[in-house]
Amino acid sequence: MSEGEAPTEPAFPAAGGCTCRAVRYRMTSRPLFVHGCHCRWCQRESGSAFALNAMIEADRVPLVAGDPDIETVDTPSHSGKGQQIVRCRHCKVALWSHYAGAGKTISFVRVGTLDQPDLLPPDIHIFTASKQPWVMLSPDVPAVPEYYRRSAHWPAESIERADALRRQATD
Ligand SMILES: [Zn+2]
Ligand SMILES: [Zn+2]
Repeated sequence: MSEGEAPTEPAFPAAGGCTCRAVRYRMTSRPLFVHGCHCRWCQRESGSAFALNAMIEADRVPLVAGDPDIETVDTPSHSGKGQQIVRCRHCKVALWSHYAGAGKTISFVRVGTLDQPDLLPPDIHIFTASKQPWVMLSPDVPAVPEYYRRSAHWPAESIERADALRRQATD
């Protein structure tokens, strides 16, 4: 930062929560990776053109308020293995999911539930084979017709964090 420049507020920790405000959480660091998912399942579940999910270690998204106010709903998923969607039990807004593949240690946080959702644009667009035709994607963001290999797209720091999580799980 050059002299005289105003210091910018650090983005993380960032705060978020449901619509009725019973449930509040903190995202303590930058996530591992952010998916814009254009699969039909995400279109149906969001009621919109795509879902925006920030993948992050579950312990980096502590609840600040509303521990008794959350409910976990078993929901079918694209893979057939199912997902658990964590919702506010009052307003029913979905805050994050755990997928069978990544397990309970990774949360897929619904970016729109952050107080400042602009913080986390997608790092990649996935399942663009079913992208709604009017959605125009930036040429600067990778896009794949279905899924992808982590090693091809994730930053090294995120791969290290995910490896550390796997090591913890097997210890
Ligand atoms: Zn709520
Ligand atoms: Zn999807």
